[in-house]
Amino acid sequence: MKRNYLFCLGILFLFLGFTTKKETPLSPKEIFINDLITKMTLEEKIGQMVLFTSDWDVTGPTLRTTYLDDIREGKAGAVFNAYTVEYTRKLQKIAVEETRLGIPLLFGYDVIHGHRTIFPIPIAESCSWDINAMENSARIAASEASAEGINWTFAPMVDITRDPRWGRVAEGSGEDVYLGSLIAAARVKGFQGSDLSKNNTIVACAKHFAAYGAAHGGRDYNTVDVSEISLRETYLPPFKACVDAGVGTFMTAFNDVNGVPASANNFLLQNILREEWNFKGFVVTDYTSINEMINHGFAANEKNAGELSLNAGVDMDMQGAVFYNFLKQSVEDGKVTISTINNAVKNILGIKYDLGLFEDPYRYCNPEREKTEIMTAENLLAAREMAQKSIVLLKNENALLPLDKKGTIALIGPLANDQRNLIGNWSAAGDWKTAVSVFAGVTNATEGKTNILYSKGANIIEDKILLKKLNDNGGNIEIDTRTPDQMIKDAVEIANKSDVVVMILGESQGMSGEAASRSVIGIPENQMDLLKAILKTGKPIVLVLMNGRPLTLTWENENIPAIVETWFAGTEAGNAIADILFGDVNPSGKLTMSFPQSVGQIPVYYNMKKTGRPFDPNSKYNSKYLDVENTPLYAFGYGLSYTTFEYSNLKLSSEVLKKDKTITVSVDLKNSGVRDGVEITQLYITDKVASITRPVKELQGFNKMFLKAGESKVVTFTISTSHLSFYGSEGKLIYESGEFDIQVGGNSETGLKKSFVLE
Ligand code: BGC
Repeated sequence: MKRNYLFCLGILFLFLGFTTKKETPLSPKEIFINDLITKMTLEEKIGQMVLFTSDWDVTGPTLRTTYLDDIREGKAGAVFNAYTVEYTRKLQKIAVEETRLGIPLLFGYDVIHGHRTIFPIPIAESCSWDINAMENSARIAASEASAEGINWTFAPMVDITRDPRWGRVAEGSGEDVYLGSLIAAARVKGFQGSDLSKNNTIVACAKHFAAYGAAHGGRDYNTVDVSEISLRETYLPPFKACVDAGVGTFMTAFNDVNGVPASANNFLLQNILREEWNFKGFVVTDYTSINEMINHGFAANEKNAGELSLNAGVDMDMQGAVFYNFLKQSVEDGKVTISTINNAVKNILGIKYDLGLFEDPYRYCNPEREKTEIMTAENLLAAREMAQKSIVLLKNENALLPLDKKGTIALIGPLANDQRNLIGNWSAAGDWKTAVSVFAGVTNATEGKTNILYSKGANIIEDKILLKKLNDNGGNIEIDTRTPDQMIKDAVEIANKSDVVVMILGESQGMSGEAASRSVIGIPENQMDLLKAILKTGKPIVLVLMNGRPLTLTWENENIPAIVETWFAGTEAGNAIADILFGDVNPSGKLTMSFPQSVGQIPVYYNMKKTGRPFDPNSKYNSKYLDVENTPLYAFGYGLSYTTFEYSNLKLSSEVLKKDKTITVSVDLKNSGVRDGVEITQLYITDKVASITRPVKELQGFNKMFLKAGESKVVTFTISTSHLSFYGSEGKLIYESGEFDIQVGGNSETGLKKSFVLE
């Protein structure tokens, strides 16, 4: 009997051996990591899951200052806010030579829009719609950061942002999902390059997962409540684009999403990220966001918070010291399993392996590169070109711009001769003293042919309470001690001596970014007093804006003939702004976030859902305000040039699209002005009837093209079902037969129209 039984078992094994798939052999990476994990103690494993900041540059409470000892004791496997070859080498040496297993450190940093050579802030760059240039900007940032010891950036920030009160709109790519996803992927590719183990590439981090941009009221860190449909169709796609582009790490958001903090959100971290998207890298929390789950009222204490977080899919604790303090106990209490810990450690070691750190832990500590590859002429030129492309011309009545390089130009405003604010916030190791002011840029450009006068005219703000808050946040705002009246008087005097006045007004860099929400988003009042006083001189005024968010500019739009949005344009800001002001470069940027007419309209974005009672001027009961139109002041996709473009002859290769086929859209584009210029042609699609209500229109393609004055070219787009699909009620991407409208033109509001049917 026993023999028979063994025989049957043998047959069964033989059968299984033949029928089950052969196990794929482990890769050298897996063998290496599995082997390392078997040698690690629980304490050493937990150490790999701990990230502490150095004391250099922090954005929250510094809970620990003993990070050097932590590294030495194998209790912290990653450090952030530490750079320079000398310093990172020193820390790496401790990890490699003084810990039992010598596992190298990761060095993280917020390299968001440049490392030392600072590029325009991300929202500005997005207005270039130049995907290759944005990839290159991230590439340069990575190469400079890696030359100073960094191997991990906390970027890109891919949160879709539709509320300009939220200060962090400065860090994103605006309101659109399609464009935002392309930019997200480009930035990942730029940072990571094609081979993470090269010494000039660094691992990227898609943040903040997820829906951080949907904070109620635009107030930073506030609660988020979005349906699964809007999560999937609006907030998740740029993150998915990062995964598809091979991003190595993800950062959780501070907020809760539909009742569950993002740092313990099983649905986001397991169901979506790991299971649906098959993400293989590691997940880090945002700064102390595990601890904050106590304030959320979601965890009873830190130990409990750590368990919830780890079990939901977080691998590394940023700065909270929760894993550090409590994880061992949690294992002993049976609240988390060793296999969960092993998984997290595997994810983290995998990235260290991909970076080549086990092969050479000092790969990013090359003093020669630090000397020769930072702020090179080539990098500065790229930053200047990126800034030129990011600038958006909002208004240009009677072709006041470009200016001639002659006569007398008055430069007036708190940002006219300023360097401190130009590099914006999250400017990594950038030094504002290297930034080119508008005064310097205009002086360079005019080469002595123009008389340039300058007056500050106003402080950035006079509001003492706001000033204190900004300076407490490291705002570093320079205050002139003259009275506001005296400053205005001095400015009026020089305006009267000039032929044209260029006013450089806006926000300080600290008025946008993290923890910088505003409920009033205009130019500060004291600067408006200055602007109104200068307007009274009767001199022609060009308003140059610097700011990190869309502003309300209704009065300015009505009264000032020329308005140029420059955001915070980076190290080369002044040169790039002068290039635009004098027409050495023709502006081509187009807005990626709508500028509201008033705060009360917010959120206002071009791809809103349709309503059952759309605006109708002849009826009372429809969706509108009594005191303001529904439309923004400047719409998504809007931006002027010094030349004009005409669209004609919109054609479809067929009015019927078969499911597995494509149709071609073509339009004639003519540069009908007298200057060469670049136009960004945009294709919008409207799904007329669907099983889920759909936006009024959605960007589904764009084309950036240079045309000589008088030249015409044909712009074409290809449409397939991938441009028509959406998340259905099951949460899956679907498409449905029916009629679609298309609109092709130079912004989201106007364009030529046609329709087709998907069979
Ligand atoms: C921010 C993150 C940033 C982190 C580290 C946090 O306060 O939300 O975006 O990466 O600090 O500096």
